[in-house]
Amino acid sequence: MLHERLIDALGADAVKTAPEDLAVYSFDAYTAGRPPAAVVLPRTTHEVSAVVRIARDCGEPIVPRGAGTGLCGGAVPVAGGLVISFARMNRVLEFDPVRRRARVQPGLVNLDLSTHVAPSGLFYAPDPSSQKVSTIGGNIATNAGGPHCLSYGTTINHVLGLEVVDERGEVFYTTIDDAGYDLTAALVGSEGTLGIVTSAWVRLMRAPEAVRVWLATFPDVDAASDAVSAIIAAGMVPTALEMMDRVAAQAVEAAFHAGYPTDCGAVLLIETAGYDDDMDACESELARIVRERGALSWRAARSQAERDALWAGRKGAAGAMGRISPNYYLQDVCVRRSTLPKALHAVEQIAHTYGLTVANVFHAGDGNLHPMLCYDRRDARAVQAVIESGNEILRAAIELGGTVSGEHGIGFEKRDAMTAVYSTADLAAMARVRDVFDPARALNPEKIFPSGASCPEVKAPSA
Ligand SMILES: Cc1cc2nc3c(=O)[nH]c(=O)nc-3n(C[C@H](O)[C@H](O)[C@H](O)COP(=O)(O)OP(=O)(O)OC[C@H]3O[C@@H](n4cnc5c(N)ncnc54)[C@H](O)[C@@H]3O)c2cc1C
Repeated sequence: MLHERLIDALGADAVKTAPEDLAVYSFDAYTAGRPPAAVVLPRTTHEVSAVVRIARDCGEPIVPRGAGTGLCGGAVPVAGGLVISFARMNRVLEFDPVRRRARVQPGLVNLDLSTHVAPSGLFYAPDPSSQKVSTIGGNIATNAGGPHCLSYGTTINHVLGLEVVDERGEVFYTTIDDAGYDLTAALVGSEGTLGIVTSAWVRLMRAPEAVRVWLATFPDVDAASDAVSAIIAAGMVPTALEMMDRVAAQAVEAAFHAGYPTDCGAVLLIETAGYDDDMDACESELARIVRERGALSWRAARSQAERDALWAGRKGAAGAMGRISPNYYLQDVCVRRSTLPKALHAVEQIAHTYGLTVANVFHAGDGNLHPMLCYDRRDARAVQAVIESGNEILRAAIELGGTVSGEHGIGFEKRDAMTAVYSTADLAAMARVRDVFDPARALNPEKIFPSGASCPEVKAPSA
């Protein structure tokens, strides 16, 4: 019945039901869930509405899916249902270079948007390291960040309005241009639990006149962290301020040969953008600060090719881990910049206690840590060690006044950790918002909110 109705509405080639197809959609970039009852690949908003109505009639929940690069189980079904893949809704629908905005479909790959608008001297600023693959819809649903979000802001700062299909299949629009409730802000970061984004108006930025990239090396992560704080304290906001520790730099260099030094304790990748005339002064000031903080070396990337190589290494760092370990678990926490050294020591200590190698590559400028715990999935004891050490890193971040996710979201994996940062009343307020948008909890169920076992009040907040 479900399958027939979907095929009637979308055509047979847009409905996947073979077990081998369904199995693929039970994974994201890290987490395994359960296969869905079907996967649909709509081409239009109208088709998305039709799918939602059919799912509702058949009592099936819905899991929206972009590229599946999420790392916390957000796009993975845990209670069956329908996966809506946006792979075929991947076009730029409108582009207004004068007003610097574009309307895009959710399945558009992030980098494809910047490529599309580049001839007009524009770019789309949020740049998750997964940007060659991840989609605008997934980025909106997770409020994705990226190396350049230090100065440009995260996805929320670049979404101007949304077209959304609600849990009944009705279409509504949000905009930040008009007065009234800012529903755009409510939808961004809601991980597919409040509505299904079927198109988005996004802000585009003018490409800067000049961009410079530098590498500074330090004896250890303490000195590098100190330099990060000093740069920001001096009133400078580089467009990116990224750190790698020795383990990460060695893996990246082995994979990319980008010119990352491998004989130091930590490397800072610093980028500034702006007017050409300002760049020399900026370089002098940065060089002064990092030397004062004990930099071992300081080097500018002098050509576009050199800059591109350094960024390719940084953005490909997760993939480079394959050089040193068959598997890795990437934790995502955020702490105040001033507590970075303590947080990094805690990570190192936890990994040491569990006998794990850890590599750190992260958005140091905004305190967003990404420890990658290396292990071999075939070793059950190592798997257990990774689970426990990942949880300990979460606890350590919270104890330092940080939070449970810097940018990857909560999804299924971290939902029970929400009780560590929010009170029951806080979560109940969020649950009431959810009930307004999706009273039947049919949109991406079992995500964000703690499981009933640990927080029953949040599951039944009404009355
Ligand atoms: C190597 C690597 C590097 C990464 N680097 C970063 C980084 O620098 N910054 C960062 O923030 N993240 C990063 N991530 C995590 C991930 O890429 C982001 O969370 C990204 O935004 C997910 O996009 P996606 O298209 O893959 O979405 P998916 O993983 O498919 O889905 C993510 C969430 O969005 C929801 N969703 C998808 N489409 C829609 C829609 N149209 N409407 C409503 N909900 C929807 C899904 O249900 C799910 O909850 C990285 C991941 C990897 C593997």
